[in-house]
Formats: sequence, structure tokens, C-alpha cells
Amino acid sequence: MLGLMQSQSLLISSLIEFAERHHGDGEIVSRRVEGDIHRYTYRDLARRSRQVANALDGLGLQPSDRVATIAWNGYRHMELYFGVSGSGRVLHTINPRLHPDQVAWIVNHAEDKALCFDMSFLPLVQAVHAHCPTVKQWVALCDADKLPANSGVPGLVSYEAWVGAASSDYAWPDFDENSASSICYTSGTTGNPKAVLYSHRSTLLHAYAGVMPDAMGLSARDSVLPVVPMFHVNAWGLPYSAALTGCKIVYPGPALDGKSVYDLMENEGVTFAAGVPTVWQMLLGHVQAGGLKFSTLKRTVIGGSACPPAMIAAFQDQYGVEVLHAWGMTEMSPLGTVCTLKNKHLEMSAEDQMTIRLKQGRAVFGVDMKIIDGDGKELPWDGKTYGDLLVKGPWIVGSYYKGSGSPLVADERGRGWFPTGDVATIDADGFMLITDRSKDVIKSGGEWISSIEIENIAMAHPAVAMAACIGMPHPKWDERPIVAVVTKPGADVSREELLAFYEGKIAKWQVPDDVVFVDAIPIGATGKMLKAKLREQLAGYKLPGL
Ligand code: AMP
Repeated sequence: MLGLMQSQSLLISSLIEFAERHHGDGEIVSRRVEGDIHRYTYRDLARRSRQVANALDGLGLQPSDRVATIAWNGYRHMELYFGVSGSGRVLHTINPRLHPDQVAWIVNHAEDKALCFDMSFLPLVQAVHAHCPTVKQWVALCDADKLPANSGVPGLVSYEAWVGAASSDYAWPDFDENSASSICYTSGTTGNPKAVLYSHRSTLLHAYAGVMPDAMGLSARDSVLPVVPMFHVNAWGLPYSAALTGCKIVYPGPALDGKSVYDLMENEGVTFAAGVPTVWQMLLGHVQAGGLKFSTLKRTVIGGSACPPAMIAAFQDQYGVEVLHAWGMTEMSPLGTVCTLKNKHLEMSAEDQMTIRLKQGRAVFGVDMKIIDGDGKELPWDGKTYGDLLVKGPWIVGSYYKGSGSPLVADERGRGWFPTGDVATIDADGFMLITDRSKDVIKSGGEWISSIEIENIAMAHPAVAMAACIGMPHPKWDERPIVAVVTKPGADVSREELLAFYEGKIAKWQVPDDVVFVDAIPIGATGKMLKAKLREQLAGYKLPGL
């Protein structure tokens, strides 16, 4: 017997319709590439998203045609989020930090028909346009009078002229909720990037999950600053979750330095912010150097890489800002776990509480996870046993777009699980702790050493700005850890002092064999450390005593 409830597709257009009707005067504030601050409302956003949809009709774009963006976080980008997907096309957000050859590769792979870009990326577009034959229309996200006369990009139009000429009279179409809505390529640290194709259904369910109290806990009373880029897994779904709640939304544009982000937070009464640890490091540096405080910020979600304990402590103890450590992946839309405490944790000592806060957290409803050993056997949730982390759920990838074969691993009931490539423990309360990417884990004398733990300890030293731990081949132990360190400007610490800093914090055999001081640690397009590159840089290095 089937249920007798209305069968209504879960569509992205319903989010913008809801926001317009119920939160029409809710504010959207953006720092623009032009440098000024732009303000408007959800009502304006909805109207202009409909204009985008009509403008795409005008280009003759068909349902499922891909429309790409190379853009910072801002209101025009958000209009494309709703106008492109809402009208049945597929939004392809491109990471501008990729190499031009890689950008051209993914434009061709996705067969993008139109590409909209912020003017800061004109040089990138000039470098790639001749290699992107599928793109019929190039659009610069600027006013008509800012369009350069001789850009060299054929048929380039300004977004304002293009969208401004389109009618706002548009009825969002109804279609299958499983239709593709957006596409995002993984960072591809090895080989070519892989394409994750989200659906309207997966995006809506993920947006619901994201706002739940034990996830990001968003409401109409929040002022939300997504520092996490809209070109990286849809800014963790925040543009959708924002429309779902009607919260104020504040976009930082290209200015991600500590001062710009801080000023925006204070001027716009930001209560909630989301970003990767490297950006928050810059923000904290600015606030600490200037003796400032946060007057409205209450919570911040930090994810994308492990959040160092020193950062959690600084936010909480010095500034009263709650840190929610979160974990996810492009393949997971991205939300998997968020570290929100349970009642029993609140009774713990500050030190014990920190061991929980450091974990990546517990699964949000919709995400199922497990850890397995090398034979595929499920491992216990005891907080100690570590294994390969697998996930499944309605917003987790089933297969890659134009991919070969299924990435999923079947269990005994034939259900497919996605192997995350992360190594983790899960405790009895379901709190997961990532100890490593499986390719970064250090195997020493048959035991595993967590590179993240080694890095976190180094980062807690006041002289250390950044640390990366890698394994080096060792004839007796297989591998031994060393830690590459960047010191803070003006700070000084010796190799011996740093090694002594590990004493009492971890077992003796886990302490790195060496400290190597470097000017910088290679960082990839999504802010993650590139350990393979670091290994290349350290080619020829020999462990002490060998
Ligand atoms: P991406 O698809 O670029 O978002 O990368 C996903 C990967 O980032 C995950 O598989 C993890 O290895 C890593 N990651 C994301 N969040 C965290 C976190 N909070 N702590 C440690 N690693 C993380």
C-alpha cells in the first residue's frame, strides 16, 4: 500500500520561492570584487534568479546543459545557484585555484555551454577560452561599463547587461527530483579530478540536515558568513541552507585576509561563520595582534582539514566562540559529521572535553558510517580501533559522472558503501576521529602513527605556524615520522626544543625522528596540504642515523 500524501518533487527552486515569500526582506550582503559592499534582499535575489533563468532560455540552453562559474562568494554567484539549477540546468562551480590546463580539462569534461566569471579571473579565462570549444557564451560578472573593450574573449557580455535585459516573469519548472542540479570536481591531488553530480533531491535533503540544531543549527535569527568558497562543494551547502531558514547572509567576496573578514563580521553582526583552518588562522592572527574581540560571533564551523586544538582553544577560551569541528567530502555534498557535544560531555573536565571537541564528530541523520579492516570486516566503535571509513546515504556519491565502474563497496546485504579514503576511530557515542588519509598514514614497526596527531602537537607550540608530518622509509621500522615545520614570523624554535615538546604528549615511539624547517608547506587548490609534493621537495632527505 502506498501512502496517500502529496507527491511533490524536492527542487532547489522551492528554496528560493520559500525565501522570497517568507523572508522577502531578509538581507544578503556581499563584498564585491569591485571593493564596495552590495546589499539587497531575498526578494531581489529571487527576482534576479528568475531573470537568470530567462537569460539562459534566451541562449537556447536545454535542460541538463551545464553552466559554469568561476567566482567568489557573492550575490551574483548565488543568483546563478538558483537560476541555473532552478531552471533545470546544471551548475558547474569551478575552482579558480586549479592550473589553467586543469580548468580547461574539466570544462571540456563537463561540456559546459556557458561560463560566468568574476573579473579577477579574466586572465584565467583568457588563458583557457581557446581550449574550451563547448562554451557558447562567456559572461563577466560585472556592470556593463566595467566590461573591457579588448578582452580577447569572443562574444564576452557583462552579466548585468545580459541578465538585466531578461524578464523576471518566469515560472520555475517542475521535474524529477533526481535530476542533476550541480556538479563539482574533486581536488584531484593525484590524476585527473573526478566529477560528483549532485541532484535536486540530494541537495534539498542535505540542506535540511545542515540546519539541524546538532549540525550547524541555523535559524532566521542568524547572520551567516560562508568563508568556505562557493566553488568548493557548494560552500558546504550554505547558500541552500540559508534560503531554507531565511537567515541574513554575508558574502566575503575575494577579501579573505584577517582584517577584511573581521570587519565584515563586526559590521554585519555575524553570528555564525564557516571556513577551513587556514583562513581562521589569519582571522585569529588579526584579532590577537590587535587585541580585538568578537562582539556578535557565537559559532563557527571548521572543517576541510583537521582543526588544530590550539585553534579550538583560542576561539573558545579567549573569545567565547564555540567551534564546531566538522568533516565531509566533495563526494558527500559535503556534510558527514559535526562535533556537537551531548549532555554527558558538558559534565567533563575542560581537558576531557577537548579530546571530544577535537574529533570530527558524530554523523548527521542521513549519513551512515562504519570502519573496516583490510579484510572488509567491520571494526568496533571503541574509540581506539582504527580502520578505513566507509559511508552511505542519500547525499553521498553513487558513481562519478562519466566515471568507469562503481566506487562503492558492497556489504553482506548488497548495499553499496563509499570508501572515503580516510582512516578513523569511532567511539561508543558515535564520535568519529580522523587519524589520517589512508595514503598519509605512517606505518612504523607494524603500528600506525597518526600524522594529524603529530601535526596538532607541533601546531600547539607558540612558535609554529604550520606543520606537516610525513613518513620516511626506514630499514628496520618500515617508516618513521618526521615533521616539516614553518615558524611564525619573528619566532624561533630549535629542532631539539620541538622534539622535547612531544614528551609526555604521545608514546615515545610515536615522537617524530626529526624536525625539518621549511619556508612553506605546499597547499592545494582547496586549502589542503599536498604531502606528495612535500615528499618530492624533501627528496634526498635522510633520517638521522641512517
Ligand atoms: P574534499 O573533497 O576536497 O572536501 O576533501 C575531503 C577530505 O578532506 C576528507 O576525505 C578528509 O580527508 C579531509 N577532511 C575534511 N574535513 C576534515 C576534518 N575536519 N578533519 C580532517 N580531515 C578532514
